[in-house]
Amino acid sequence: MDSYEQMHLYISGDVERLMEERMIPRETVLKAIHEAESTGQKFSKRSTARSLAFHRPKTVTYWVEYSRIGEEYQVHSAYSHRMGMKSGGGLTTDNTASVYESGWICNLCKAQLEVQTVRLQYMQCIFPHNLPVCPHCSVILIAEELATGKMAEAEQALEDK
Ligand SMILES: [Zn+2]
Repeated sequence: MDSYEQMHLYISGDVERLMEERMIPRETVLKAIHEAESTGQKFSKRSTARSLAFHRPKTVTYWVEYSRIGEEYQVHSAYSHRMGMKSGGGLTTDNTASVYESGWICNLCKAQLEVQTVRLQYMQCIFPHNLPVCPHCSVILIAEELATGKMAEAEQALEDK
């Protein structure tokens, strides 16, 4: 696969504004997609042919929802969070998480996600949270709603302390 600089992105004006607002550089989006495409480690949705890439270069995790159209990658959304996450909390009986509605599967394992109790950590605080996880390779899916909602609020609250 070509290096990420040679990849072509299609980003609509709306998504570009969203990226600007969320301070997500275009280069980071390229790197996230490149990493997902070269390793196969991403989430995918068969019904819509969309992919969800994740990329954590340092202390921020970036997520990019995209689809491939010919040689171009169309970016549908991008978001980020600083909170770290760790799986291994075991299965939970709370299956109300929107995982089953979302339709994402682990692309590498071709596995349906299951809901597990995951530890989200930021600064010195740990928040147990029920999240969709691949039962084989343990990758955790953070949905846009969570990253830009509850997680962002908690990060902000801790920084303000
Ligand atoms: Zn997996």
